Amino acid sequence: MITTRRELIKAGAGSLIVASALGPSITFGMMPMHHKSRMLPPSKKPRVVIVGGGWAGVTTAKHLKKKLRDRVEVVLIEKRKIFMSCPVSNVWLGGLVEMDFLMHDFQTPASKYGYTFVNATVTEINRHKRRVYTNQGYVDYDYIVLAPGIRYNYEAWFGKDREMARICATSFPSAFIPGAEHVALKRKIENFEEGTFVLVVPPPPHRCPPAPYERAAMIARVFKKNGVRGKLIILDPKKEIKPKGKGFKSAYEQLYKGLIEYVPNARIKEVDPIKKVIKTTAGDFRFDDGNLNPPHQAGDLVWLTGLVNPKTGWCDVDPLTLQSKKDPRVFVAGDSASVKGFPKSGDMAHNHSQNMLVNALVAIISGKDPYSAVRAPTNTCYSMVNGDPKEAIVINVLYDIDLKKKAPKKKKVNVDNKRSKALATATFEWAKALYRDMFS
Ligand SMILES: Cc1cc2nc3c(=O)[nH]c(=O)nc-3n(C[C@H](O)[C@H](O)[C@H](O)COP(=O)(O)OP(=O)(O)OC[C@H]3O[C@@H](n4cnc5c(N)ncnc54)[C@H](O)[C@@H]3O)c2cc1C
Repeated sequence: MITTRRELIKAGAGSLIVASALGPSITFGMMPMHHKSRMLPPSKKPRVVIVGGGWAGVTTAKHLKKKLRDRVEVVLIEKRKIFMSCPVSNVWLGGLVEMDFLMHDFQTPASKYGYTFVNATVTEINRHKRRVYTNQGYVDYDYIVLAPGIRYNYEAWFGKDREMARICATSFPSAFIPGAEHVALKRKIENFEEGTFVLVVPPPPHRCPPAPYERAAMIARVFKKNGVRGKLIILDPKKEIKPKGKGFKSAYEQLYKGLIEYVPNARIKEVDPIKKVIKTTAGDFRFDDGNLNPPHQAGDLVWLTGLVNPKTGWCDVDPLTLQSKKDPRVFVAGDSASVKGFPKSGDMAHNHSQNMLVNALVAIISGKDPYSAVRAPTNTCYSMVNGDPKEAIVINVLYDIDLKKKAPKKKKVNVDNKRSKALATATFEWAKALYRDMFS
């Protein structure tokens, strides 16, 4: 482990931010750095490199280090300087919580649990050499966990026309990846005065199945509050709202009557972000402003590794261990992984990372059977549908492990479509509990 600035420089670290068990994160100025130089010294213990400090990556880093302590070196590489949560971001769009609630730092958990945080962008992975290249230098690994989230597939709408994709992404940002797009979307919603605002639901499987419907409720809340003369049109490729369909429908009808028009079976045929027209299998729609959400795929980074199934756009993994089906040194966690029956949610990313991936990896590193080590996950997803007063609905899924089939199976699905203040309180409690686990 690096203990001094000199050792770090010897190891080849340049403008690199590292936090370790030794204390707070340290920034090493603007020293020139070649991305092909070694960033960390060779490790005497098995080294697990985690790429992506989102819900899956941060959870994996903490729980792996907590379980194996000195028997493992854990390195978390994340390109962002600050964590922003997509969960609860719709509630923020609706004006019911401050941005501060969504933001967290990477340094506190890294220094508390003793893993190394590297603030860098991974540019290449050489699976043969077991080496990760970043814009700051390279790191060798024994095992790697890929958790880069999703990417937008604008190609599905615009083919090779990158200029149209750029115009669409800039004019009508999706905000399904946290960051500036959320700020742009909030401005749009708050400044909207009249006309048609369109919200395109991406085709499944996409990040957070209920998120577009929760977002619609929160946008309608702002429109209602601001006295907007117009409506929100939801274009959904599915034949009905799913999950929590009844709860969303009754909220739309009872709280936002005349403000929300829901259009099912609206698969996208053509999007023109300049003329502001969307052609769908349910008809053509003109709009004045909108939130245009293209289909999702596994994050860019996993495409670089050749581990994505091009037919689905997601990574095939062992459904119990989340180990890649093509390379046993590689694990894929969070939304990039494809496991039948698992929604792409923060709660699931947190749950499957902690209960399945980490337990399996601990067993593998300890020379034990990974399958008997994994534990069944759960998934809970709240959706805020009202702001005056705050009211939410919820779905909770319990899973079992089928050791014969080596796969998880759904054990019980609980849905509460009756919106209530108690579920709104539970929404915030859920988020606080997960943020606490990941960041403090
Ligand atoms: C509007 C909205 C509302 C949602 N609400 C909920 C909810 O209420 N409950 C719930 O459970 N889920 C919710 N979700 C879903 C949740 O946000 C995702 O399922 C979750 O973020 C997935 O975690 P992840 O770790 O796979 O990806 P992410 O959290 O996106 O993390 C991926 C990380 O990888 C980093 N990264 C990517 N490429 C590189 C690279 N090359 N080098 C270094 N770092 C890289 C990214 O910067 C990012 O920090 C919601 C999503 C949205 C969009």
